[in-house]
Amino acid sequence: MENIEKLFSFIDEYAENIAKEHELTYLDSVLETLNTWLDGEVKPVGFEPSKEEIRKAIQLTLLKGMRQSAQPNHQMTPDSLGLLLGYFVEQFYGKEFKSNNKMIVLDPALGTGNLLLTVMNLVGDKIKGVGVEIDELLIQIAASSAELEKQPIALYRQDALENLMIDPVDAVICDLPVGYYPNDEIAKEYEVKAQEGMTYAHHLFIEQSLKYVKDGGYLFFLVPDHIFESEQSALLNKLITQKAWIQAVIQLPDELFSNKAHAKSLFIVQKKNETDKPVKEVLLAKVPNMKNMKALELFFAKVQKWKKEQKG
Ligand code: SAM
Repeated sequence: MENIEKLFSFIDEYAENIAKEHELTYLDSVLETLNTWLDGEVKPVGFEPSKEEIRKAIQLTLLKGMRQSAQPNHQMTPDSLGLLLGYFVEQFYGKEFKSNNKMIVLDPALGTGNLLLTVMNLVGDKIKGVGVEIDELLIQIAASSAELEKQPIALYRQDALENLMIDPVDAVICDLPVGYYPNDEIAKEYEVKAQEGMTYAHHLFIEQSLKYVKDGGYLFFLVPDHIFESEQSALLNKLITQKAWIQAVIQLPDELFSNKAHAKSLFIVQKKNETDKPVKEVLLAKVPNMKNMKALELFFAKVQKWKKEQKG
């Protein structure tokens, strides 16, 4: 058995037992298991798992737990999306990663932490994370996972659209929560506030992220495919034109989404600053089927060519 399978069985069996004994949900029991492992009361025997093995095994248990729970908000970003997003973070920050300074990266909708941890593990020990999440269980899972993977993430349990007590960060990554934001009192402070009715949370998250990133910082968002076609998109367009330069809009492969209506794109922007300029050409691309290695290689070559051409 591979380490990931062994580790999955270790967490899964322990969690199943706790769930039965204490009548907890499976996800609550996974959290209990991770904490018991952190306390040193139990641990996987016979091997020392790597950060990625830990993340992937936890991811499998979370997928199982989320399938069982009816909570629509408990949605994790799978690593197929996280690795693609991480690839783009590397393309934009490759140079910075060569220095000794750690970059501060914010995920304002941290969830289970799987997206942020996928990117942190991918780029090596180059990132200090900051995560904001409203859901108590998810942020606790993120905290325990980060501790087991020895990745530094500062955590804030709050509504990410209220004021954040953080210094400006170098970059933002976020799988945006999609839908209407219920708190109009808070939404009215935003430029993208809808003139009538409730405002889209994903628009508010983009504005909030632009507020907390440093000038010149990049923001990597997973957004609904048709984000610029809604009745509220004019205000979002205006905000982005004022504050940022669009870098890329990348459609993700359909097969990554069980329902086509929930398909997402990767939207990359840079917050304007005094020294940089807009890109010569915005990258508009579609990621091919991820099983087609040849097509994927061509896609990555196209991205690298585009990146080089924007320099001169
Ligand atoms: N990337 C995450 C992961 O890997 O688990 C999943 C993100 S999920 C698509 C969106 C998250 O946003 C959910 O965990 C949800 O609880 C959180 N969320 C929604 N509205 C929020 C708010 N106003 N403030 C903070 N978090 C919020």
